[in-house]
Amino acid sequence: MRLYNSLTKRIEEFKPNVEGKVSMYTCGPTVYHFAHIGNLRTYIMEDVLEKLFRYSGYDVKRVMNITDVGHLSSDADTGEDKMLAGAKREHKTIMEIAKFYTDAFFADCAKLNIKTPDVVEPATNCITEFIHMIEVLLEKGYAYKAGENIYFDTSKLKEYYVFGAQNEEELMIGARDDVSEDTNKRNRNDFVLWFTKSKFEDQALKWDSPWGVGYPGWHIECSCISMKHLGEYMDIHCGGIDNMFPHHTNEIAQSESYMGHKWVNYWFHVHHLNDETGKMSKSKGDFLTVSLLESKGYDPLAYRLFCLQSHYRKPLTFSYDALDQMQATYKKLKKRIAALSGDGAVDEAVLKEWHDKFVSEVGSDLNTSMGITLIYDALKADVSDATKRAVIGDFDRVLSLDLLKADESTESGADDELVAFIESKIAERKEAKAAKDFARADAIRDELLSKGVAIKDTREGTVWELV
Ligand code: AMP
Ligand code: ZN
Repeated sequence: MRLYNSLTKRIEEFKPNVEGKVSMYTCGPTVYHFAHIGNLRTYIMEDVLEKLFRYSGYDVKRVMNITDVGHLSSDADTGEDKMLAGAKREHKTIMEIAKFYTDAFFADCAKLNIKTPDVVEPATNCITEFIHMIEVLLEKGYAYKAGENIYFDTSKLKEYYVFGAQNEEELMIGARDDVSEDTNKRNRNDFVLWFTKSKFEDQALKWDSPWGVGYPGWHIECSCISMKHLGEYMDIHCGGIDNMFPHHTNEIAQSESYMGHKWVNYWFHVHHLNDETGKMSKSKGDFLTVSLLESKGYDPLAYRLFCLQSHYRKPLTFSYDALDQMQATYKKLKKRIAALSGDGAVDEAVLKEWHDKFVSEVGSDLNTSMGITLIYDALKADVSDATKRAVIGDFDRVLSLDLLKADESTESGADDELVAFIESKIAERKEAKAAKDFARADAIRDELLSKGVAIKDTREGTVWELV
């Protein structure tokens, strides 16, 4: 396999530290709100990468953190704590918020056929490990105490901007525009390892430490959680492109200073999903979720296909028109596959040939759209239907588009006419509710239920499902 490495800025032959094994770490979600479909683009592409490693014969151990403490709204050490803001918004405790949105995240992943990593570790499980790493960094002179917080001293490093200098300029612009200077810092890019003098007096989650009661900074969690489960030498570390700086830069700074040697060989970054107004972001208010797409009649796997059709190193713009097209393509593709008779014997040699072709084509810097093309090529190939089904089922171990599964939406599920009817009834009910005609609103709900459609009012609007 060949992969682009953000650290060297080159496409390289992937060689793991231990033959046949891959240690893989992915930055997990901050669980203060639902994941938007941009976040999920990153998790879909990481899922494909993990599955491609396995498909190519590697034994993979994949670890992911859950950020349930200490993620500030600014990438510097400023701004409000996102978890705290979420708890305030919903009048819940931070741990209630974390549990609710962690479950919601994995429910979304399940709908998109994203496999749960082998190890999932919430940051709040690892406070002892964070404190230990910070103690060592202090002992080695890489950290200092100021204003009662503990900071990492970036001036102690030979090279801090390991992913490239242009980030420095970006940060300078950010610093001038909207990041207020922390006067405790010795250098502009020093970052907090442990907050003791809290600027959030009402921060609910605090732990005892050698420096007083406080809580960890954001970056330390990924260094410690990955090391706890994958050791001091890791093959590949993944995340969205925005994680490159400062998050991954800071992870490398503290991990390599702590261990005294190189840590990760390959860095894999997925570019952003944008909407027509720019980068999709949770703080934008009404953002796009999987449930919202479902309530509009889209199959979550049509969104997965949409992501697979584009390269992970290119920004992708979401639009409903594009998703409409993808949903139609997805349905047609599944119909063509369903029409294969399955008769005849599977030609094992042909199956192996296509398997190897998939590894070499898709394994060329995760060329997922080529993986889709190979499905169409297989459909056209001069082999038995049974072999075609076997080849496509084999590809689906990586693509995870349920290609061999009977399509419920074309058989027993909702057809386009029914979806249009449901949508019109939901709109009618919304009008009735706005006019305070609750009897009418309830009657519409019952009418839909009598047709086997249950509706539910959520924060994102009314959603429906077939019952
Ligand atoms: P968060 O929950 O904000 O920590 O983000 C979870 C993951 O989604 C991280 O790997 C981010 O880099 C990634 N991410 C955030 N915004 C986007 C976006 N618009 N498109 C793709 N990935 C994103
Ligand atoms: Zn991380």
